[in-house]
Amino acid sequence: MTAVHVPGAPLVEADQLVSTSPATGAEAGRLPVATDADVRQAVERARAAGEWWAGLGFAGRRARLLRWRALLAKRIEQLAELVHVEGGKPVADAIVEIVTAIEHIDWAARNAARVLGPRRVRSRLILAEFSGHLEYQPYGVVGVIGPWNYPVFTPIGSAAYALAAGNAVVLKPSEYTPATGQWLVDSFAEVVPEQPVFTAVHGLGDVGAALCRSGVAKVAFTGSTATARKVMAACAETLTPVLIEGGGKDAMIVDSDANLDAAAEACVWGGMTNAGQTCIGIERVYVVDPVFDAFVDKVVTRAGRLTVGPEGTDIGPITMPTQLDVIRRHIDAAIASGGRAVLGGPDAVQPPYVHPTVLVDVPEDSAAVREETFGPTLTINRVRDADEAVSRANALPYGLGGSVFGRRRAVAIARRMRSGMASINSSLTFAGMSTLPFGGVGDSGFGRIHGEDGLREFGRAKAVTRRRGRSLLPSMTFDRTPTDVARLVRVIKTMYGR
Ligand code: NDP
Repeated sequence: MTAVHVPGAPLVEADQLVSTSPATGAEAGRLPVATDADVRQAVERARAAGEWWAGLGFAGRRARLLRWRALLAKRIEQLAELVHVEGGKPVADAIVEIVTAIEHIDWAARNAARVLGPRRVRSRLILAEFSGHLEYQPYGVVGVIGPWNYPVFTPIGSAAYALAAGNAVVLKPSEYTPATGQWLVDSFAEVVPEQPVFTAVHGLGDVGAALCRSGVAKVAFTGSTATARKVMAACAETLTPVLIEGGGKDAMIVDSDANLDAAAEACVWGGMTNAGQTCIGIERVYVVDPVFDAFVDKVVTRAGRLTVGPEGTDIGPITMPTQLDVIRRHIDAAIASGGRAVLGGPDAVQPPYVHPTVLVDVPEDSAAVREETFGPTLTINRVRDADEAVSRANALPYGLGGSVFGRRRAVAIARRMRSGMASINSSLTFAGMSTLPFGGVGDSGFGRIHGEDGLREFGRAKAVTRRRGRSLLPSMTFDRTPTDVARLVRVIKTMYGR
């Protein structure tokens, strides 16, 4: 019996990874599957290319990265169409994703020299005769492993910053979106034709595992928490440092003084854009009692208007066919444990689509509240006050982003959320602000992409001291005398002994 190929599921045929549209099954691309030897060779070639790239200096890299950014901007419609065909997301969502990626390339290119470049660091009295110098030097080759849900934004969130910092990058795109990954590296090669500075290797998870063991100097992983543990274990063998951008189960908190129309709009967008397949997507909502009913009504009205289908709709297909089972299981679990579907429900799952679903009064121990659903579903629960909302929001091992709607207490609530990021009176917006770091806590990972922290993530701090005069308090030498040591003791007591 021949197995039937499910549209969208990756298929390996004669050593080729065949990528297909989850909506129509149409072929989106065909890429050679890399062997372990291919991966090692790609990293070796990148190592030499990286030396050349680092040698260009910040100005040379900036000019080339800005040319790449311009190429992406010029071809935005072409890339958006590929992302749409390969992953299923609506073209408008793909455009927004690419715009965000372009913004990150621009910022990283323009700010790398300022953030990472050599600078003097002030000395202190004890070593006043030395000057301090600090710079962030590239690692060499960075392995970037990316997911399928934002196949442009997530690899570029790491790669643009790693490249701006002077590293070469070998990308392993998700097996669901290899053609998009290849498009990115091909476009880069058009503006940097001299050396293979940014390349891709394709295949299933084992190719990602091979990349972790290939001698790269750092791995930037974006994907599920379960795979993150495997990546860390593989990298531990060689003490290869890792950056983990893991999964999430982000909460929105709606306080009593919130603008409910704006909150409902941001909730539906944050929960259902890209069919809910967003790491920082809103999956759980906690609403204070006095505004609960009005808020739920507004969310249901808005979510009920969303259109679902292959072309020109608000919600496209679920990219990974296996995810449909997870979404169905979560909806069933919510209802079995006493929750109610006020929109959608079990019948909302119509492969490859899931229609908007809003679940209320779902017990906090339900899988629908605790596990990443990755579908256009929301749980909305009633809470007494903002304190209860915060403690429920913070009760999970995940801690990626979050959203708060309110006025008087909004900033305080956002600060108390156990997450790496939060948006006040909007949702997901922190992802597009290139000046802010992006990353999570707990099971959502560690390390940061974007912003100054995102640049430093891809540079090793190099500290240099330089003598500029004779030592007044000689201590780090065998030439010191007992008088020198006694003077040092007197000085330290005067300075710090109070
Ligand atoms: P996965 O963890 O399944 O895969 C991520 C990447 O890792 C893919 O390229 C995958 O390859 C690769 N991979 C699989 N197995 C291994 C392995 N043993 N060693 C090394 N690499 C491996 O995640 P998804 O692609 O399903 O992406 C969805 C997840 O990503 C969600 O949990 C989401 O929350 C998270 N995410 C996090 C973001 C963040 O910034 N924090 C942003 C976007 C998504 P292959 O596809 O071939 O299996």
